[in-house]
Amino acid sequence: MKAISILGATGSIGKQALSVVSAHKASFRIYGLSANRQVKALAQLARIHKPAKVVIAAEDLYQELKALCRDLPVEVAAGPAALAELAADSEHELILNALVGFAGLGPTLAALKAGKVVALANKESLVAGGHLVMPLATNNEGTCLLPVDSEHSAIFQCLQGQQGQAVEHIILTASGGPFWGYSPLELAEVTPQAALNHPNWSMGAKISIDSATMMNKGLEVIEAHWLFSLPYEKIKVIVQRESIIHSMVAFQDGAVLAQLGAPDMQVPIQYALTYPKRFSSRAPRLDWKAIDSLHFAPPDMNNFPCLRLAYEAGRTGGSLPCAMNAANEEAVRLFLNGAISFLSIPRIIEAVMNKHKLIKMPDFAALQEVDQEARHQVQELAKKEG
Ligand code: NDP
Repeated sequence: MKAISILGATGSIGKQALSVVSAHKASFRIYGLSANRQVKALAQLARIHKPAKVVIAAEDLYQELKALCRDLPVEVAAGPAALAELAADSEHELILNALVGFAGLGPTLAALKAGKVVALANKESLVAGGHLVMPLATNNEGTCLLPVDSEHSAIFQCLQGQQGQAVEHIILTASGGPFWGYSPLELAEVTPQAALNHPNWSMGAKISIDSATMMNKGLEVIEAHWLFSLPYEKIKVIVQRESIIHSMVAFQDGAVLAQLGAPDMQVPIQYALTYPKRFSSRAPRLDWKAIDSLHFAPPDMNNFPCLRLAYEAGRTGGSLPCAMNAANEEAVRLFLNGAISFLSIPRIIEAVMNKHKLIKMPDFAALQEVDQEARHQVQELAKKEG
């Protein structure tokens, strides 16, 4: 039985991972679970899955979680340090990092330093700190980083049994999001509610907005650069409207391998948990009779400039992707709160990137400062936008 901890258990990926675990009770045991503020939901999950440890990231909710779990044989802790401690705990073999945002980087680093296998949904770990994460993921014996993002899982699956050096380029597929084909005038009017309504995938709020701006694809380009050690010119993006082709690898001999499936995160989540094995799954199957065509288009970097900004940040490297990521997180938060418009998101991110003073090899403490500074700048810029 594999002992697993899930960071971000109350989120979209966390809940789907728990349903994968429940479907394979003989193979997995839940050791630790975490949440940020959803204290009741976390206590409820502790009741169902009986972990040894639960962590609530928001320290002010510690007493409430302790009270809710008082009749359970579970250790309760709170705060970011406790989250990093759980990530590095000696009692589990694998952690699934399903946290959202920069908050995921500390636990990713802690788990890898402790030699854990990390199933990584938290793409922001690699965007902000890929240069710190990858040396730990590849140098420490027994350590491993497994992609959960559907596109990166697709590429990882296509690369099984292949020679890495035979890759010509990879092609990340993008759905285009809910506003594909909109004019700038139409984009100026879109509401948070409309942006949360993704045509193919059901996801957490932040990644749904990232998909609508196409920043999600930009973050994934940087994630792919680190995971597969590829230069940016070998990472291409194509819009595949139906989200059936999850990504592709083009090899030097002209062959292209793709991974296809219904748009459902259970498959990549489960593959990361069972790798290198494949287990049965209740995930929906593709209905070939219902697919009469697949549609492709080049990405539109004029109406969706976030993708261009991410390529620029990735190519520059150093602390710039961290600043871009923080600016994006903060701008998305303000958009969801109704404080700025949809089109303000890329404008604000670009302004933060233009102001950024580059640090070539930032350590974790420097990244934390960059993150805070960029968020502060977004607050200031948002006042002008408003
Ligand atoms: P959600 O917002 O649904 O869930 C995020 C989880 O992280 C929740 O458990 C939340 O707790 C917790 N959390 C939020 N902020 C903090 C914080 N500051 N400190 C500690 N814990 C925190 O996100 P998703 O599940 O959608 O996404 C998670 C990650 O997976 C993201 O990086 C996303 O890009 C990636 N991803 C998601 C996909 C999807 O289909 N959802 C697909 C591919 C990748 P609480 O519930 O208490 O707020």
